Amino acid sequence: MRHRTLFIAFALLVAFTPSAEASLLRGDGSQYGAQHRLSRFVAKMKVPMPGTDVTVVLGECPYFEGALGCVSSNTPDVVYMRSSLPAEVLYHELGHVFDLGMDPAQRDWFLSAVFKTDQPWRGAVAGEPSPAEWFADLYAACAEWGVNYPRGLLLDGRVVPFGYVGPSYTPAAYRTACRRIKYYIPWVGFT
Ligand SMILES: [Zn+2]
Repeated sequence: MRHRTLFIAFALLVAFTPSAEASLLRGDGSQYGAQHRLSRFVAKMKVPMPGTDVTVVLGECPYFEGALGCVSSNTPDVVYMRSSLPAEVLYHELGHVFDLGMDPAQRDWFLSAVFKTDQPWRGAVAGEPSPAEWFADLYAACAEWGVNYPRGLLLDGRVVPFGYVGPSYTPAAYRTACRRIKYYIPWVGFT
């Protein structure tokens, strides 16, 4: 009986933190050490990691010259980023990985409830402002600040995340969006 209780508790824990076991890997497949700055950034995240191991290759993005970081949908679990960048850049790129593996139906909710646009999720040109980039910025803000956006960073009472210039939204919309990312978005794997 005791075993069964333990098992149920464990199963519930897994169900609500699906990405708890996801690791951050180097290009050679080894794990970044716990003291590496990237691991410390991940440890501080206030939203879940994508539900998969993510390889972070430190260096230039091979797809977009001059980019601070990038993710290609051809290798959606690989992040390229320059070293020594702040946590927000890693969080933004992890936002793309999260996006590429979340239930695609979720995107409609962000388009209508947060970004208030009917434009395509991805821009015609990679790296140009688009809902996919605004989502990565939103994920990064939620990872950095949690569900309560700092009042001191509001512009005219609205949330404007670090990164791409995108639509502003209310702190209430931000809070709802972060909660959704944190608790309710099914990870379906890369499609
Ligand atoms: Zn991006």
